[in-house]
Amino acid sequence: MRSFIKSICANHENLDLYLGVIDTAEGIIKQFPEDAWRQKIKGDRVMNDEVNDAIINTGLMGLGVEEKYGGMGGGLMGQVLATDVFSQSGLASFAAVLNSFCRTPLLKYGSDEQKTKYAMPTITGDKAFCILATEPNAGTNTFNITTKAVKQGDKWVLNGQKTFITEAADSDYGFLIAKTEIDVPGALSVFVVDMKSPGVTLHPMNIDIAAGEKQYNVFFDDVEMPADALVGEEGKGGKYMFEGLNAERLMISAWAIGYSDLALQATTTYVNDRKLFGNKAIGSYQSVQHPLAKAKAETDAARLMIYHGVQLFDNGGEAGPASNMAKYLTSTAVNNMCDAAIQCHGGSGMDEDTGMLALWRISRVVRIAPINNEMILNYIAEHVIGLPKSY
Ligand SMILES: Cc1cc2nc3c(=O)[nH]c(=O)nc-3n(C[C@H](O)[C@H](O)[C@H](O)COP(=O)(O)OP(=O)(O)OC[C@H]3O[C@@H](n4cnc5c(N)ncnc54)[C@H](O)[C@@H]3O)c2cc1C
Repeated sequence: MRSFIKSICANHENLDLYLGVIDTAEGIIKQFPEDAWRQKIKGDRVMNDEVNDAIINTGLMGLGVEEKYGGMGGGLMGQVLATDVFSQSGLASFAAVLNSFCRTPLLKYGSDEQKTKYAMPTITGDKAFCILATEPNAGTNTFNITTKAVKQGDKWVLNGQKTFITEAADSDYGFLIAKTEIDVPGALSVFVVDMKSPGVTLHPMNIDIAAGEKQYNVFFDDVEMPADALVGEEGKGGKYMFEGLNAERLMISAWAIGYSDLALQATTTYVNDRKLFGNKAIGSYQSVQHPLAKAKAETDAARLMIYHGVQLFDNGGEAGPASNMAKYLTSTAVNNMCDAAIQCHGGSGMDEDTGMLALWRISRVVRIAPINNEMILNYIAEHVIGLPKSY
């Protein structure tokens, strides 16, 4: 990664910081056994927490947060780079991605008190966030949500339901998208809800994406939130959320792309060792090589698009097209790589101990969440190509 970053960030004022991020991330990775990822992607919570603690202890959670708020600076590039390096070793932290997504609008639109109370403790790991966006009956169409916060005196009272909420049980706060009494189409508001409040109940979902972090259905029954739970202006939450989507797509892509490198590395070792017909390894057959070579080309192209999007984002440019394309290309590349990896492993690809199925599950999820690839293609068709909106 050093030569890659040096080539795309030559003469950048943060180049030394970025190289330091790689050193720190690699230092953390070295603390774990080489095949620790196989344990982590089996959903080992202890291993997951150890990785998260190590990330926090080295200050990497401060990436993307300005120094004046106790962070390390480094913009989105710093965060994406760290996530990518961890992902290549199979030790990427989904919790870190969630916290980074939630605190960005808080730091931009929150009051000083909200920044101090909610955003800054995520740097030290004292507090953690989950994202409360998806609802069972709204799905992809966030504007159709029905979870509602109603102002009563100096409090908000919240009722509704969210689904698929990653880390809900281990989060202190939820970054919540809800309706209020503003009766205007598209008027959403953003709140910070204390996940330990009376009236918040969680039901674990039966989802195993092999990432350590778990998903929950979350119910709100007359949950009281203080007046300062509202972030920014009432009714402007949709704007805050959409502004954060490019960064989220790039972070998720960084979280996923390294799994492609990891699957390739494990598979290369496997196919070079396995000899079935005479003394030739199965890795010498073109039919084994080509799917891997194709997915490798797709992976490298996707990574270039991720970093192109990140540079546009950090420079204040229009990052929408590149961010959406990066998410599409990444999910496709990782999916193709993991599928090829399973095929190359033969029956062993179905053995959970090789880790290939677990990697494939992760790769498959990225085609659906945080936004499905169809919506990504809708965006490209409408906003990049200029075709009519299709839905
Ligand atoms: C592992 C995991 C973790 C998640 N974590 C979180 C979380 O922490 N917080 C959170 O809020 N949410 C989370 N989600 C939810 C995720 O964001 C949603 O699953 C996703 O946005 C899709 O919503 P849906 O599942 O309701 O699918 P639906 O909206 O029901 O869509 C189903 C399918 O229909 C198609 N489709 C839908 N709309 C269109 C359209 N306009 N054009 C073309 N095709 C379309 C797509 O193929 C789509 O996959 C998570 C999901 C998973 C699987």
